Amino acid sequence: MNRNDYTPSEPISFPELALNILTRQEHNISRKQISDNALKVLYRLHGAGFDAFLVGGGVRDLLLGQNPKDFDIATNATPEQIRQLFKNCRLIGRRFRLAHIMFGRDIVEVATFRGHHQEPSKNVSQQSKEGMLLRDNVYGTVDEDAERRDFTINAMYYSIANYAIHDYAGGIEDLEDKLIRLIGDPETRYREDPVRMLRAVRFAVKLDFDIEEDTAAPIEALSHLLKEIPAARLYEESLKMLQTGYGLETYHLMREYNLFQQLFPAVSEFFTNSYDSKTEQMLDLVLDSTDQRVEEGKRINPAFMFAAMLWYPLQAKADELMESRNLCHYDAVMEASNYILDDQVRSIAIPRRHTATIREIWQLQMRLPRRNGKRAFRLMELNKFRAGFDFLEMRGEIEGGDTEQLAKWWHTFQNAGRNMRQAMVNDLDSADSGKPSFRRRKSGNKKRSYRKSKSES
Ligand code: ATP
Ligand code: MG
Repeated sequence: MNRNDYTPSEPISFPELALNILTRQEHNISRKQISDNALKVLYRLHGAGFDAFLVGGGVRDLLLGQNPKDFDIATNATPEQIRQLFKNCRLIGRRFRLAHIMFGRDIVEVATFRGHHQEPSKNVSQQSKEGMLLRDNVYGTVDEDAERRDFTINAMYYSIANYAIHDYAGGIEDLEDKLIRLIGDPETRYREDPVRMLRAVRFAVKLDFDIEEDTAAPIEALSHLLKEIPAARLYEESLKMLQTGYGLETYHLMREYNLFQQLFPAVSEFFTNSYDSKTEQMLDLVLDSTDQRVEEGKRINPAFMFAAMLWYPLQAKADELMESRNLCHYDAVMEASNYILDDQVRSIAIPRRHTATIREIWQLQMRLPRRNGKRAFRLMELNKFRAGFDFLEMRGEIEGGDTEQLAKWWHTFQNAGRNMRQAMVNDLDSADSGKPSFRRRKSGNKKRSYRKSKSES
């Protein structure tokens, strides 16, 4: 390809960053707060004669008195040199090559200092026509590395050589002012990597900061650039946005900047000015409950959240198919599930194991009303019963009526003893005994379901 294809339309503007150094006495970060594994990596790099800094969220969060999610390290050692120092090292990434040092389940991420892209060369740096960096593997000095980072508060380096903090972009001041500020020209930086728009919103909510005016200004107009980002990366980002304890607020702020709409187009078709469509009510409910679960340290299943978010769009699609293709309700929902999930994975690559669970949760919504005979007992033994029931309860809150009654029935049933459960089912059976459709279904069902499962396997 022609080299000019990679030349940005406007020169990337690199600010002259003014370095401010806080000595060990001038800040509150102590080595006790840094994980043993991160310290090991820092010291080994340092011992081998390389520069080694803790950088990014680790420094930012410690300065804020919070617990960092992970510790990121930056060094002048190249990925190959890092690999030679650590047996437990894996090199990952193409767009952005990194070393992962593995300590069991704990991973310490080590990045080689990034440099400038003034003279793009195909092997190490690539830029699309939109100005997006497709590869970012030009190595440089620590000063250059600081300029390539996203926000000022993420460009503070804690040196393992003398325990000082090197603040390259005024991050300390922005921490004090509670501001998310991009380094350099915001539009250029968003064009290089549109995910920075998502990160701005994520950090603003998580840290309870404001997005500085110039950093906020271009977001809405550039939000469409997220469409260019690989769906696998957006999947990872969407989990960080929505499943790490601040999902509800993050969704609302993303929505204000037209970012949520890029990631969840089918969901956002149901957005209203009054924020009260069933889809919007469900978003509020499921994100709020996810946030609570994170706070209580409970397990989070991304499939549950996606199933809930997409449920009412699924129903609308199924209604449309019943009408236009004359399908029965069950077939319409099955067909609509394919449609909605295919559409969603184009923007966010939800892994197959999760889409399978999403389908199970949806199918359970059709099975939970049918509780006669042994069905209720069998349903309760299903792997995904709990998720299906939890979701039914949320629907009950929104829909009221039969759905709410059904959720209450299942709630009582689960908490009842064996005899009481049997009595509850008997009640249903006697209430249903007059209905002819029940007998017909019962006799015809076995063969049909057998054939279906055979053909599926
Ligand atoms: P947290 O880990 O709490 O989500 P973080 O700031 O550590 O926050 P990471 O994704 O771990 O975020 O990235 C580590 C650092 O790498 C960031 O602090 C930032 O300096 C830099 N960085 C990450 N993503 C980008 C990006 N898209 N553009 C520029 N710099 C980035
Ligand atoms: Mg981090």
